[in-house]
Amino acid sequence: MVNKAKLLAAVKEDSVVQLLQKVIQIESTNPPGNELDLAHWLADYFAEANVEAEVLKYEGKRANLVARLQGSGNRPALIFSAHMDTVSAGEVPWMFPPFSGTLHESKVYGRGAADMKGGLAAMAQAAVILAQSRIPLGGDLIVAFSYDETYGLQGARRLVDGGYLEGAGAVLVSEPSTLDVFIAEKGALWLKCRVQGKTAHGSMPHLGQNAILEMVRFLHRVEEHLDLSTEPHPLLGESTFTVGTIQGGVAINVIPDACEAQLDIRLVPGLDHREVVRRVRELGEGRVEVEVLDWKEPVESDPNAEIVGLSLQVVEEITGQPRSPKGVSYYTDGTVIANSLQIPMVIVGPADTGMTHQPNEYVEVSRLVEAVKIYLLIATRYLA
Ligand SMILES: [Zn+2]
Repeated sequence: MVNKAKLLAAVKEDSVVQLLQKVIQIESTNPPGNELDLAHWLADYFAEANVEAEVLKYEGKRANLVARLQGSGNRPALIFSAHMDTVSAGEVPWMFPPFSGTLHESKVYGRGAADMKGGLAAMAQAAVILAQSRIPLGGDLIVAFSYDETYGLQGARRLVDGGYLEGAGAVLVSEPSTLDVFIAEKGALWLKCRVQGKTAHGSMPHLGQNAILEMVRFLHRVEEHLDLSTEPHPLLGESTFTVGTIQGGVAINVIPDACEAQLDIRLVPGLDHREVVRRVRELGEGRVEVEVLDWKEPVESDPNAEIVGLSLQVVEEITGQPRSPKGVSYYTDGTVIANSLQIPMVIVGPADTGMTHQPNEYVEVSRLVEAVKIYLLIATRYLA
């Protein structure tokens, strides 16, 4: 039996705060990503604790980081999943420099503090404490820190394809959840729509075909008539649609002959994405070319899976608040890992869900410390 009090006493606020500050200071804005520097730094951090971590380098400065704490093989492995890249700091001035990792009034500020270097630091710290505790493990703990989560999930795909996650029975993701327990996420369908028109002088519009106006009419049709209705999903609610970009035209006095728009459609399980693409094409009435840029499947874990019950129980134990399983509309590496390996996914992260991609992004130190404890207990119990 693991001595819980002794294990939790090894969690030190100063160490996890300093670790987070350091990983914020190593900038990894995506694009371009540059996760390699952070991966190397983390590999050294693990090496100091005698945990062997491997930097998997890809093109340019893209990289994944994996580490495996060996178990005896009596239990399936557990994946600690986090991503190393962040979105850009944006144009709005920050209260503190975005790559400083400033500690202010019990919060750590910086780009990625919430999404999701806070979760990453808490998982790294938990893995190191677990390794140093010398608690015998039945299954392996796999630390899987990816690149390119904020855009294309390339890092997670390569971890799966490379066989680095083999033997896993569950994946725990530390994306922002305000320490709630999320077990489902929406799918993301990204479409590029293109209208071809005919150019003419702006003074003679009847001689041309205005691609921008045609696109606007199409977008209105999609907004009004695209049927995304299903039975409301108990955890995820309803599917949504939005237009993210639109581009067209060269000059005020030239009839535009091309227009392109990108649609972001988030689907709840049960709605076939191919059917949705078909409906969008139909609304194009033969004048709009519709291309699928990406499809990220929704995730729906079995609420009765062992990892789900265990996570609910541990989160309640550490925070003192009862929890019930919930869903989220954002996507994570979990979609690739859980769906490819056919294993349940749970998201529990220290940061506030509303902090994601915001200026003055921060994570509360108290939650960060609670997250380390939660990961430690989930891992020791799941892998026992
Ligand atoms: Zn994220």
